[in-house]
Amino acid sequence: MLNKARRWFEDRKLARLPVDRDQWEEAVARWPVATRYEGAQRDRLFDMALRFLVRKELASGGGFQLDDGMSLLIATMAVVPVLELGLDWYDGWYTVIVYEDTFVTPEGEMDEFGVVHEEGRVLAGEAWLQGPVILSWGDIRAASAEEGYNVVIHELAHKLDMLAEGANGAPPLHPGMDGDRWHQVFTHAWQALERAEQAGEPFLDPYALEDPAEFFAVASESFFESPGHLRRVLPDLYEQLALFYRQRPAG
Ligand SMILES: [Zn+2]
Repeated sequence: MLNKARRWFEDRKLARLPVDRDQWEEAVARWPVATRYEGAQRDRLFDMALRFLVRKELASGGGFQLDDGMSLLIATMAVVPVLELGLDWYDGWYTVIVYEDTFVTPEGEMDEFGVVHEEGRVLAGEAWLQGPVILSWGDIRAASAEEGYNVVIHELAHKLDMLAEGANGAPPLHPGMDGDRWHQVFTHAWQALERAEQAGEPFLDPYALEDPAEFFAVASESFFESPGHLRRVLPDLYEQLALFYRQRPAG
């Protein structure tokens, strides 16, 4: 009943949203990952992106002007990880704040609130436990240009991770998935990246080695942005992420 009522209100708001399919297509055209989704799946991506905009508040920070095209692109990047899981996986928080570029946060002060920091590329994004996701538009745009990098997917992966026992690198796994296997695969991947990093040839952003939560977020970025590469370098990890996200972006 609650779901039915929610759906009804959402559909009404959706009908009043001043954006259409053509605008959406134009907005996502600059993001290569979007071309992967075709037919009915693409229709669903469009629908979920609009529902994301209805459910969440996208606010701009520091005087930045967020336009419809930007909002559509951000919403689409945000829903790609939950396309096969459902938008309810993002329940419990409401706000996405977008700054024009990198932003500065007084970090020591934030830890007590459960903030996940992005040190190193510190100021590109943040995700708060039950709080807002904070993003930089400059970094969102870089997703199109830089292989394997996507700050929106990174922060939203933190949100999924936080659904089970805080940000620890393990989101709630589906029935049939094996938590021990997940831990084992991620541990091996961590060690492999550590060796590769020491040899000066990291195959993933070494920022992943900050902690298990960052490893999951960085691996998730790579899973959606450069899945062929991830499957080649870490096939077992790719498989675990495919089981969790219920998608096989490498084909
Ligand atoms: Zn992070």
